[in-house]
Amino acid sequence: MVVSQISQNQDQALLALPRSIYIESTTRCNELCQQCPRTLLTREEDRDLSFENFRSIVDQFPALERVVLHGLGEPLLNKELPKMIRYLKERGVYVLFNSNGILLTERRGQELIDAGLDEYRLSMDGTNRESYARIRGVDAFDKIWRNVRAFIDLQKAQQATKPVVSLWFTAMHENIPELPQLVDLASNAGIPEIYLQRLVYFEEGLAQSKQSLFRRSSREEQEIVRQCEETCASRGIRFKAAGTATPLESIVRETDSRPWSGCNRPYTLTYITSSGNVLSCCFAPFGHRSAKEYREERVLGNIFQQSIAEIWNGDRYNEFRRAFESDHPARHCSQCGLNWSY
Ligand code: SF4
Ligand code: SF4
Repeated sequence: MVVSQISQNQDQALLALPRSIYIESTTRCNELCQQCPRTLLTREEDRDLSFENFRSIVDQFPALERVVLHGLGEPLLNKELPKMIRYLKERGVYVLFNSNGILLTERRGQELIDAGLDEYRLSMDGTNRESYARIRGVDAFDKIWRNVRAFIDLQKAQQATKPVVSLWFTAMHENIPELPQLVDLASNAGIPEIYLQRLVYFEEGLAQSKQSLFRRSSREEQEIVRQCEETCASRGIRFKAAGTATPLESIVRETDSRPWSGCNRPYTLTYITSSGNVLSCCFAPFGHRSAKEYREERVLGNIFQQSIAEIWNGDRYNEFRRAFESDHPARHCSQCGLNWSY
């Protein structure tokens, strides 16, 4: 598919606009996670995306199927989020976002149910107050679990089947021994899905290669993951990793010498920040060495200055795609699959 899309490009045919997009609803955040580029690297200015700007973005995509409403920030900080979800649901779009749960009050939870949100992904990288505070930079573990349990009770009381709640665990040497407790937290709260995420590292904070489990896990660590796969299966919890790999495969499997190849995001998906900057994917804000590199290499256009049709088929995006097909892709792609997965 990728090859035919490139040759289409070479023939000046226009690539169809993506059906799947990320829109960063806010860049503000109430945590200081020690593996997050927002905490550790230069970042775009703090701002919420207004509903008006949001609508001006989504109205440019004629065939949207899936919208992820997070980027580097906590989506629940944007008070217009339920309105955005409702707008997308009226178009029949599948809507989800990741959240830290600190602001998942009964009122916000009810708003999410009423708006028709499909998935609520709770980021949970520690399983007790101390480790959570160490990794996520704030002492909020108890509050979050009070919120999440109350939200699930609310859903049960209303027989609401959506949003599906899942737990997202960024696995590191630091926290992998806690994985069995995460499974207990999920089963006690009635959460049906757990995702094991690979650490995206860039040698700052906890985002260190020495923390990564990918091809660096010990036999004991692999055994923890394997046992959790069994426990989840016996308790009816879906335990997954990114893409098609099982959690265990996701930390041990080999990649080839061009680890980015096989990714089709440059042709099928785009990521728009709350300042309107258009990036290739959700990994693009990771690992840049300066604001200049971020601007020059990662930002492919700005949707408040040009239409997405112009950007998507414009020179910078096409140059990014040409590099992507060569042996010298953009730096964030060059190690993709080694540092993280697609
Ligand atoms: S990982 Fe998410 S919650 Fe944590 S600091 Fe980054 S944006 Fe905020
Ligand atoms: S960083 Fe990875 S996921 Fe993103 S476009 Fe490049 S290869 Fe694909």
